Amino acid sequence: MKQKNAKFTAPMIFPPIFLCLIMLATWVSLVYIETDSKQNIHKSLDTVLKITEEALQLWLDGRLDDLDYVVNDQAIIDLSKTLLARQDSLALSQLRVLMGNQLSKHGDQGFFVIAPNRVSVASMRDANIGTENLINQQRKAYLDRVFEGETLFIPSVSSDVPLMTKSGELRNKQPTIFVAAPIKDERHIIIGALTLRLNPMANFSRITQLGQIGQSGETYAFDKRGTLLTKSRFTEHLRTAGLIGKNELSMLSIRVSDPGGNTLTGFKPTQALQDRPLTLMAQQTIAGNTAAYLESYRDYRGVPVFGAWTWNDHLGMGLTTEIDAKEALQPFVLTRIVILAVLVVVIILMIGLVFIPLWFQEREKRALKQHRDALEQTVHERTQALEEANNALKTLSEVDALTQIANRRLYDQTLVTAIAASKRASQAMSLMIIDIDFFKPFNDNYGHDKGDITLKQVAQIIANSLTRATDLVARYGGEEFVVLMPSTDIAGAQHFAKSIKDNIEQSAIEHQFSSVANFVTASIGVASLTGEALNDIDLFKQADSALYQAKKNGRNRVVVFDGG
Ligand code: GH3
Ligand code: MG
Ligand code: MG
Repeated sequence: MKQKNAKFTAPMIFPPIFLCLIMLATWVSLVYIETDSKQNIHKSLDTVLKITEEALQLWLDGRLDDLDYVVNDQAIIDLSKTLLARQDSLALSQLRVLMGNQLSKHGDQGFFVIAPNRVSVASMRDANIGTENLINQQRKAYLDRVFEGETLFIPSVSSDVPLMTKSGELRNKQPTIFVAAPIKDERHIIIGALTLRLNPMANFSRITQLGQIGQSGETYAFDKRGTLLTKSRFTEHLRTAGLIGKNELSMLSIRVSDPGGNTLTGFKPTQALQDRPLTLMAQQTIAGNTAAYLESYRDYRGVPVFGAWTWNDHLGMGLTTEIDAKEALQPFVLTRIVILAVLVVVIILMIGLVFIPLWFQEREKRALKQHRDALEQTVHERTQALEEANNALKTLSEVDALTQIANRRLYDQTLVTAIAASKRASQAMSLMIIDIDFFKPFNDNYGHDKGDITLKQVAQIIANSLTRATDLVARYGGEEFVVLMPSTDIAGAQHFAKSIKDNIEQSAIEHQFSSVANFVTASIGVASLTGEALNDIDLFKQADSALYQAKKNGRNRVVVFDGG
């Protein structure tokens, strides 16, 4: 049994270990592939971001060069000088014509000539003139730098006047961006500033829109306060999710803040826009932390995204390229499904490889056991049959075939052991020999068959006349019977002999050819010995001698051996 168990445990233990190793390897590979995927996603995002930043920079450099050229135009300097000194409608209309030509070259939306006290002295519209310039109101620091001699870009500013949108409607607070340069006189003293109002929907937003990858990737700019400076790719969604008003543009209307949940899946932000924390990306960018961040975070729609970001001092804005985590991770998710499917197949195969042979082994074992049981059953049946045959044989060898009482052989065996037992117990042992009288004439006259029947009857009468289980009746031979009576003295034996003789007589089996009666009779010789004198030969001799005496004395009687 022990050996069998050892055989079974070896294949039972190794597959689970092997399986664990495979699962561990799969898990490690998946973790590695996931990390690698995230690194690659970040690399792609960063590349797009760098290209977009470079394109914006190139575009801006061109616009600043262009402005430097305009601001050095003598006619423009002269007209500005006049207007900075006093109101002059002729000079204003001349400047408007000159600037109008300039603006139409790039599709710009307007210009300002700003006095050192930050009041607009010239513009395309009269309404602006004589009031504090809106750049000074919203981006004073930038204007300060212009008056210190820098030509620079001024990020989005809410417009003071309604501007025409693409669809032809007038909108208030439209986002506008500016380039500004100092106006210098012949002695290079800064006498004012010239600004051009660029259309942010044109090249500026368009360049950032080039940085769109996949279905959900976008590049956008935002300022130090986290205000979105370029158009969002998801303006329509922002409107339906209620993140911006119906008529608002995403630019300048939205803070790059975390709504607290995914608005794409129906999340409704509870906090007011101003109270929400900036997105992780905006916080990191504004804090100047541009180290690679490989995990996903919620963007201003609340959608989990991956992103790369940077702060551009020259542009005065943060730039980021983001893509929905779901889209970016799709190749990894597919790889994971394939790997897990392979793992499942391997597990199923392994279970099959281990358990099918076990199942066969088990079946074989069962068949073997059935076979063995059947064999054992057969052996058992055969043994029983043999025992029965032996018993039958034993009976045959010990029982007289005709009378069905003990035969001479059993009598001889019993006699020896019974004498020994009586001697040990110091008890008397008696023997009687019974001989049917005139049985030869019975046979001769009634026939041998009738003789046999009579022999059987007499045997039964003798057996029925005895009461002790230890007494043995046997057919000694022919028509002679013996009765062995252990632990019985001569008186007891004589008593039983008498009742046997009487019972034979009373059964009255007809015998017309007997000389003592007209029915069957028997003569009985009885002897008894005890102690030292007890032995089989003497006991038989004495009983036989008593029988002889009984015959001699006239038959049908009991004679006890009296030593003579
Ligand atoms: P007694 O003993 O009275 O002196 O006379 P008896 O006729 O009985 O004497 P004997 O011993 O000469 O006869 C025995 C007879 O018993 C012989 C035989 O015919 C008969 N006999 C012996 N064995 C069998 C037997 O197995 N079957 C039958 N039917 N008869 C038997
Ligand atoms: Mg005889
Ligand atoms: Mg006889």
